[in-house]
Amino acid sequence: MPAGRGSLLERDAGLLWHPYAPLRENGASSALAEVRGAAGAQLLLRDGDGAERWAVDGMASWWSAVHGYRNPVLDQAAHAQIDSFSHVMFGGLTHEPAVVLAERLRELSPATPHVFLADSGSVSVEVALKLAVQHEAARGRPRRRRFLALRGGYHGDTTGAMSVTDPEGGMHREFAGLLPEHVFLPRPPERSAPAEEVEAWADAARETARAHRDELAAVVCEPLVQGAGGMRFYAPECLRALREICDELEILLIADEIATGFWRTGTLFACEAAGVTPDVRCVGKALTGGYATLAAVLVGEAPARVIGDSPLRALMHGPTFMGNPLACAIASASLGLLDGPDPASAAVRRIERALESGLGPCRELDGVADVRVLGAIGVVQAERPVDAAAVTRLCLERGAGVRPFRDLVYVMPPYVASDDELATLCSAVRAAADEQLGGQASEGERP
Ligand SMILES: *Cc1c(COP(=O)(O)O)cnc(C)c1O
Repeated sequence: MPAGRGSLLERDAGLLWHPYAPLRENGASSALAEVRGAAGAQLLLRDGDGAERWAVDGMASWWSAVHGYRNPVLDQAAHAQIDSFSHVMFGGLTHEPAVVLAERLRELSPATPHVFLADSGSVSVEVALKLAVQHEAARGRPRRRRFLALRGGYHGDTTGAMSVTDPEGGMHREFAGLLPEHVFLPRPPERSAPAEEVEAWADAARETARAHRDELAAVVCEPLVQGAGGMRFYAPECLRALREICDELEILLIADEIATGFWRTGTLFACEAAGVTPDVRCVGKALTGGYATLAAVLVGEAPARVIGDSPLRALMHGPTFMGNPLACAIASASLGLLDGPDPASAAVRRIERALESGLGPCRELDGVADVRVLGAIGVVQAERPVDAAAVTRLCLERGAGVRPFRDLVYVMPPYVASDDELATLCSAVRAAADEQLGGQASEGERP
């Protein structure tokens, strides 16, 4: 087809890959709609029939757009930085956006005061893993190069991050030989599990860790919420047990807060709710309020000193777009908004109440296995895989943008979503659950 002919969805089909989707689906694009505009918590979508409508973004563009679209403060920060300079290399140079951002991150996470800026969440996980290996080598334990990770976890799509992702979710079999083999603990029990179950899990975790003590460099986990691996909320005692294991083995605890960071679960970082301090914290997604790709590895004093005193001295990583000034300037503005006049803490509490009352009634519906809410995350879990395309369409007709996967219909709206917008979102999910989950459904999709 010649360039520029047909609708965007037609031009997209066969040309562009979308995440975990074929180039074409039934002869058409795997995308269901074209984004024509965005403002606040809503997206203006045009479907394949050319119909346009605004929809409340239930996904916050995959956890990231916490302050909504076209946020005036973030827009202003982006414009101001573009008028100054958009990018310069970070090798041998520094600039105000990076320094200011790092200072803000240090303020938010004082126990991990050293900052490595990375291009995306997955890359920050790669850097954290490399850091742990360097850390062990520097301490004369070069054989410790494996990681202890959790079944049900997700840490990104690059190969190192995939290797610590749940073996099924990370498609370890598909990429056998390419991915290093790490040690996995069973999925931690859910937060409402009986104490004996949690203790049994912790005992088994300790045993596994001790059995591998001579080869483990770090424990890697998503604190409290396993996101893309199944939207599970697990018992905080499990996170505390992992912290104790790291202390006992004298290895690093790497907390992947890429999804949970910046208030999404109701505290600034999910670790806080468990009273756990990690040695290394990865942040991303909401860091720039969803405006640009940026992540950071926040590193504690002690491991930073070990790396600094080692023969290499440097953390061996340094991507082309490291510390991108435009992304850093927006990120600083985004972090500033978190405790601005409309604090994220209060917004998340308000959203939590709205999701609890709006999605709670789904518990009574046929085909619904569980409804759970934590902070600004609401999950309706079906008894079977859901027909993702059908649920997405039904919700869209009711003004809500969702993206179900496997047996999950879930929302994590922008913090700026109004009570009316939250009500729209919840009633759309309720209606879709009512119509779809009780009956027959086809195979679900990945996130
Ligand atoms: C999304 C995510 C990542 C990967 O981040 P990208 O920016 O997509 O590379 C890693 N870990 C967690 C917990 C995530 O949710």
